[in-house]
Amino acid sequence: MKQFYDLARWRARIFSKLMSIVLLAGVVAAIPSTLMALADGMWPIAAMDVLALAWIFAIWRLKRLPYAVRVLNFLAVLYLVGVGLMLGVGAVSQIYLMAPPVLAVVFLGTRQAIAALLLSGATILALGLGGYTQLFVEGLDHGVLSSLVVTLNYLCVGAAITITCGTLVKGLSQTLGEMQGFAASLEHKQARLHELNAELRLTSAAVARLNDMVLIARAVDAPGAHQPIIFANEAFERRTGYRRDEIIGQSMRVLHGPETDPDEVARILWAVARNEPVKSELLNYTKGGDPYWVEMEMVPFASEGGRHTHWVVVGRDITERRNSARAIHHLAFYDVLTGLPNRRLLTERLDTLVAARNAGGPLGAVLFIDLDNFKTVNDARGHATGDALLRSVGERLVSVVRARDTVARLGGDEFVILLQDLGDDVPAATDAAVKVAHKVLATLGAEVVIDDQLYRSTGSIGVALPLRPGLSGHDLLREADVAMYQAKAAGRNGVALFECTMLAEAEQKLTLERDLAVALDNRELAMHLQLQVGQDQRPIGAELLMRWRRSDGILVPPEVFIPIAESTGLIVPLGNWALRQACEAWLRLQQAGHALPLSVNVSPVQFRQPDFVDQVRAVLRDSGVPGAQLIFEVTEGLLMEDLDQTIARMHELTQLGIRFSVDDFGTGYSNLAYLRKMPLYELKIDKSFIRDTPNDVNGTAIVQSILAMAEHLGIRVVAEGIETIEQAKYLSAPGGPCMQGFLFSRPAPLEDILATLSGTDSPAA
Ligand code: C2E
Ligand code: MG
Ligand code: MG
Repeated sequence: MKQFYDLARWRARIFSKLMSIVLLAGVVAAIPSTLMALADGMWPIAAMDVLALAWIFAIWRLKRLPYAVRVLNFLAVLYLVGVGLMLGVGAVSQIYLMAPPVLAVVFLGTRQAIAALLLSGATILALGLGGYTQLFVEGLDHGVLSSLVVTLNYLCVGAAITITCGTLVKGLSQTLGEMQGFAASLEHKQARLHELNAELRLTSAAVARLNDMVLIARAVDAPGAHQPIIFANEAFERRTGYRRDEIIGQSMRVLHGPETDPDEVARILWAVARNEPVKSELLNYTKGGDPYWVEMEMVPFASEGGRHTHWVVVGRDITERRNSARAIHHLAFYDVLTGLPNRRLLTERLDTLVAARNAGGPLGAVLFIDLDNFKTVNDARGHATGDALLRSVGERLVSVVRARDTVARLGGDEFVILLQDLGDDVPAATDAAVKVAHKVLATLGAEVVIDDQLYRSTGSIGVALPLRPGLSGHDLLREADVAMYQAKAAGRNGVALFECTMLAEAEQKLTLERDLAVALDNRELAMHLQLQVGQDQRPIGAELLMRWRRSDGILVPPEVFIPIAESTGLIVPLGNWALRQACEAWLRLQQAGHALPLSVNVSPVQFRQPDFVDQVRAVLRDSGVPGAQLIFEVTEGLLMEDLDQTIARMHELTQLGIRFSVDDFGTGYSNLAYLRKMPLYELKIDKSFIRDTPNDVNGTAIVQSILAMAEHLGIRVVAEGIETIEQAKYLSAPGGPCMQGFLFSRPAPLEDILATLSGTDSPAA
C-alpha cells in the first residue's frame, strides 16, 4: 500500500514503462530512418540513430544502475539526439530539445529541469550564433538577434511547459503524500479494529463462560413495550433450562411466575421506563417451573451517540443464600416445635396492631391461652406425647381463626392468638373476641388420639383488647395474661375478659411476690399452731400454719401468699423453713411436757423437689425430732399427678416415720381408688363441708360418707373448721373424727399454745 503513494516509485515505474515504449518506438522508427539515411549517404545520421538506440537499450536493460543515473543518461540521449537533429535537420528540431527539461521535471525534479532547460537554451543559442543551425526569424536580418529571439522563445515555451509539468508533479506529490497519510491512518485504524475484534471475541467468550447469568435485551422505548432478549450466556441456559434460541426475542417477563413479587417487578419496569439502572432480588422460574432467587442488576447501554440501545442484565443465583436466610429467619421468628410464630414475631405483630389502633385503625384482640393440667400429660406420658399434644393444639388453634390472624406459641403450654380487624365498635369487637375464645375452648375440648390414647385438653383463656390509650403491645399481652390467670383462678376451662381491676390485683400480686422474696430474711414470717382435739376434746396434736406480717404491719392471709409462693417457687425455702420451725416447736412442746404430733402443710411443689426426702431426713437428723412426730398434710392435687412417683416418695418418707394426711379432702378430683394405694394415716374433711353441718343435707351426707370410707380404710379423720357447738356435737360419737376449729383453738403463736396447754392440761375448750 505504502509504495502506491510514493512519488519516487511512481517515477521509477513510469520511467521504466517509458523506456520500454521509447525503445520499441525507437526500434520501429530507427530502422527505416537509418536505412533511408544510409541510402542517402547520410551515414552520420544513421550512426547517431544506431548509437542512440544502443544507448537507450543499455539504459532500459541496466536496471541495477541508480535511477537518477539512468534518467540522466536518457536525458543525455534526448539532448544529444536533439543537438544532432538541430545540426542535421535544422531549427525545427529544437522541439527535441524541449524533451530533456520536461522529462527532467517529471522524473527528477525542478532544479534538474531548470538546469536542462538552460543547457538546451544555451545549446540552441550557441548553435545559432555559431551558425551551425539556421535560426531564422521573419523580419530580422541580424543572425545574432534571430538566435536570441529563437532561444528566448524556446526558453519561454520550455519554461512554461516545464513549470506546468513541475507544478503538476508537485501537486501529484502532495496528493500522494496526503493519500499516504490517509492510508497510514487507515492502516492504523484497521489494526485497531483488528485489536478490538480480538478483544470483543475474548470478552464474548468470557461472558459466555461466566458463572453469572448474562442477558442482553434490545431497548424498546415505547411505554410498556417489552425489551426483547438478543443474547443469553451459557450460565443462563444452564440455570434456567431455556435454550438460547428459545429465549431470544422473548421478554424477560417469561422468567416470572406466580410467586414473583409484583411490587418488585413494577419497580423494575419503572426504572426501565426511565432508562435508569436497577438492582433487584427477584424470584424467577426455570423453564421447568422451578423457582429460584436471582440477584440481578440491569444497566442501560448507550451507543456512542448517547442513544440508549440495549439493556445488559447480570444475574446471580442466590437461592441458597435466600433459603438459609429464610431458615435463620424462621428459627428466629418461629417456634421449632409447632412451626407457629414465636414470642419475638408475636411481639412485632402486637406492636403493629397496637400502633395501628393508636393511629385510629380498627380494633384487634389478644387471646392468652394456657392449657390446664398440661404438665400432668407431660409428666405422666412423657415429653414426646406432650410435644405431640402441643402440636395438635397449635394446629387446632390455627384452624379456628382466619388467615390474617396470628397464632403464636410463647413457650411451654402458653399460646396467644392475635385477632385482627375487629372493627371500630368496642362491644361488637369484644363480643367477637370472646366468641372466638369459646370456639377455642370447644376445639381444645375435642378428643385427639396420640399413640392410640385419647386426650382432651382444656384451657384457660384471657381476652384483652387495646382499649386504653397509649397502651403498648407488651401491656396488651400482659392484660390478656392477667385475664388468663383470672380464668384459671375461676376454675379453669373458661374465658375471662380483662378488666382494669384485674391489673390492680396483678400489680398487687407482683408487689407481694417481691415482698415475699425477702420476707423470710426480714423475719416477717412466723408459724402459728392450731390445736386438734380428740373425741374427748383433749389435744391430740396441732397444725402449723404460716403467718406473714409485712413490715408495714399488714397481715397477708396464707390463702393469698401461699399460691404466690408456689407459683414463684419460693414455697421451697419457705416449706423448709416451716419444717424446721415444726421441729423446733415440737422440741419446745416436748420440753414443756406436751409432745403432741404436729401437722405440717406440704405444698406439691415442695414435695416434688428431687431432694425433698433428703431435706426432710436432714431436718430430722439435725433437730433430733422423731419422724413419727410429724404428719405431712398434702392436697389431693398432689395425688392427681404422677401417682407412681408420689407413692414411691411417700413410702420413702414413711420409712423415716412420717405420716400422711390428705388435706381439704373432698374438694379435689373424685377418684378415690388412689386412697387404697398410698400409705395414708389421716383424711381432713374440708371445712366447706363442715360449715353447714348439721343443717345442710348434702354437706352432712358427704361428711358421713367420708367417715364411712375412712373407717373402711382404717384411716383417722380430722374435721376442720369446727366453729360451733352444734357442729362439734354432731361429730361427737364413738369412732367419730378428731376435730380442729376456732371452737377449740384459734391458730396462735407457740407461746400462747404452750400457755393454753400448761394452763389447762385438760380439754382445750
Ligand atoms: P389448711 O391447711 O386447710 O388450714 C386450715 C385453715 O383453716 C387455716 O387457714 C385455719 O386458720 C383455718 N381454720 C381453722 N379452723 C377454722 C374455723 O373454725 N373456721 C374457719 N373459717 N377457718 C378455720 P389459714 O391459716 O388461713 O391457712 C390457709 C391455708 O394456707 C391452709 O389451709 C394451707 O393450705 C395453707 N397454709 C398455711 N400454712 C401453710 C404452710 O406452712 N405451708 C403450706 N404449704 N401451706 C400452708
Ligand atoms: Mg392443713
Ligand atoms: Mg384444710
